[in-house]
Amino acid sequence: MEILREARAFQCYSCGKCTAVCPVAAVDESLSPRRTVERGMAGADLYQEELVWSCVTCKACSYVCPEDVDFPGFVRSLREGMLEAGRPPDYTHGEIMQAIPRLLANRGLTPKRYDWVDRSKVSEDGKVALFLGCGPYLDTVFGYLGGGHIEIAKAAVDILNRLGIKPRILEAEACCGHDLLWTGETGTFEKLRARNQANLSSAGIEKIVFTCPECYATLKEKYKLPGIQLVHLSEVVSAAMGDGGTAALAFAPIAGRVTYQDPCRLGRHLGVVGPPRQVLDAIPDLKRAEMAHSGGLSRCCGISAWIQCNATAKRMQLERVREAREVADTLITNCPKCLVHFKCVLREEGKDVPLRVEDWTVLVARSLSGGDARDGG
Ligand code: SF4
Ligand code: SF4
Ligand code: SF4
Repeated sequence: MEILREARAFQCYSCGKCTAVCPVAAVDESLSPRRTVERGMAGADLYQEELVWSCVTCKACSYVCPEDVDFPGFVRSLREGMLEAGRPPDYTHGEIMQAIPRLLANRGLTPKRYDWVDRSKVSEDGKVALFLGCGPYLDTVFGYLGGGHIEIAKAAVDILNRLGIKPRILEAEACCGHDLLWTGETGTFEKLRARNQANLSSAGIEKIVFTCPECYATLKEKYKLPGIQLVHLSEVVSAAMGDGGTAALAFAPIAGRVTYQDPCRLGRHLGVVGPPRQVLDAIPDLKRAEMAHSGGLSRCCGISAWIQCNATAKRMQLERVREAREVADTLITNCPKCLVHFKCVLREEGKDVPLRVEDWTVLVARSLSGGDARDGG
């Protein structure tokens, strides 16, 4: 009952708006956030609800809910109980994506983050930090999909350098804990949070720039970092453009038809919808179109926190790449995990969909360093 109260579930009046926008319900009619809330209020055993693990915590439901029912938060709390009851989700990839943050939390391991970037382009004592996140680990696990995550880190450094910022890389930075938090491993998440908070608070940093929406959302919503400004790279670039731009922000042409995937954490959780688009629209010859579901009503890439990669998830992914293909040749995202999941579905179940996927940061850095001319295009 406490979980229902915290989620404001008692305010639900069964309007069904949540189910109408839920990407899981869209491909599996047996799942419905409205019905789960109703059954919870009727005293049903919510641990029997398939949606507890199938929900991708995308927040589309609470975005439209007139009563501000926090369904993703409700699911997160239920997941803690599910783990305690010995009913874990179906972890993907042999649980390796859970093993990495657990090792960082429990063994105090420190990734060699300076090995991921050119040391001459970063600072060891600056006031502006670049939070690198775990993206580069994805190159190790998902190299067969083409990698590209260390490239994102390097591209972010390049973009910041052009803005006159030599970002500081924090050797002691650990995983933000996003996936453990959202799969109910709260104790392990708390260890990561405590470690990161202590390191960031004592580093004399004034601003942290993020490329990964999940790291950004986790630090912004769950950490306490008084006096430190948190921003997404797209906000930094778009603000620089708004200031009249600089010679350093000379976007070179990249020809193509693109559409932008709002990562759930960046778009709905944090409301950063305009800046990534404004920057894309500054690239000459790049034609951007919106998918049928975009902005606040954007659809998830189909997987969250490396669990439940099943037929329902695959249907969500296929619908999304087909939606993108209706308006573009290339799908742009700035979430490293969207990138992996979309590349995966386009390699397997969606291999008949002629769509490319590219990272936003890499594309922007490519334009700033010469665009098609640099590539010989
Ligand atoms: S949108 Fe909100 S009020 Fe309407 S059914 Fe869903 S949870 Fe209930
Ligand atoms: S958070 Fe997303 S996936 Fe989960 S119930 Fe809400 S709309 Fe559906
Ligand atoms: S979509 Fe592919 S990469 Fe993503 S969890 Fe499923 S199998 Fe793994």
